[in-house]
Amino acid sequence: MLVGEMSQQECKELLARLGFGRLACAQENRPYIVPIYFASEPDRLYGFATMGQKIEWMRSNPIVCVEVDEVRSPIDWVSVVVTGRYEELPETDEYLKQRERAEALLEKRSLWWEAGLAAAQTRGKFDRDRAVFYCIHLEEITGRRASPDPVEASPHPART
Ligand SMILES: Cc1cc2nc3c(=O)[nH]c(=O)nc-3n(C[C@H](O)[C@H](O)[C@H](O)COP(=O)(O)OP(=O)(O)OC[C@H]3O[C@@H](n4cnc5c(N)ncnc54)[C@H](O)[C@@H]3O)c2cc1C
Repeated sequence: MLVGEMSQQECKELLARLGFGRLACAQENRPYIVPIYFASEPDRLYGFATMGQKIEWMRSNPIVCVEVDEVRSPIDWVSVVVTGRYEELPETDEYLKQRERAEALLEKRSLWWEAGLAAAQTRGKFDRDRAVFYCIHLEEITGRRASPDPVEASPHPART
């Protein structure tokens, strides 16, 4: 298996195509990670959630990490890790345009709303007014791609 680096463009294309990953945040030296859907723009990700632990934690510490991957086999996969800064998009004039943009992009993703809603229903406290739109400003992106090594795959690998 060969592992190589992905370009920034390839990383952004993967984020845009998958729209699903794991969001990690931390509070008082304790990590927390959950699966989320997101919509992607070149410099940011947009997400939707209802109030809960991840929003509370990201409010107190906006430095977050998102990981996405696509695994075809143990030797054929791509993975992108993003570090970024959480910013909430409240229903105020200042954020109106960004919030509308987030909603428009997220609407294209099927079931994006249901995931957040289902989570809130599990807690028995869904409140439409407490729905949270947010964005994650991308600060650093790295990507790795694994592919089969043609030498290893050969029926007669060269002796070293
Ligand atoms: C495919 C997929 C897509 C999702 N997309 C979204 C999305 O776009 N927006 C969104 O808000 N939510 C989404 N969810 C649900 C999300 O992963 C969280 O479960 C949910 O947001 C609640 O997180 P919270 O921090 O508010 O938890 P809270 O309701 O505050 O609960 C915190 C407690 O529940 C546990 N917990 C929370 N979530 C999970 C989990 N997923 N698995 C195991 N334990 C958990 C925590 O460890 C902690 O003990 C998605 C889930 C899946 C599987």
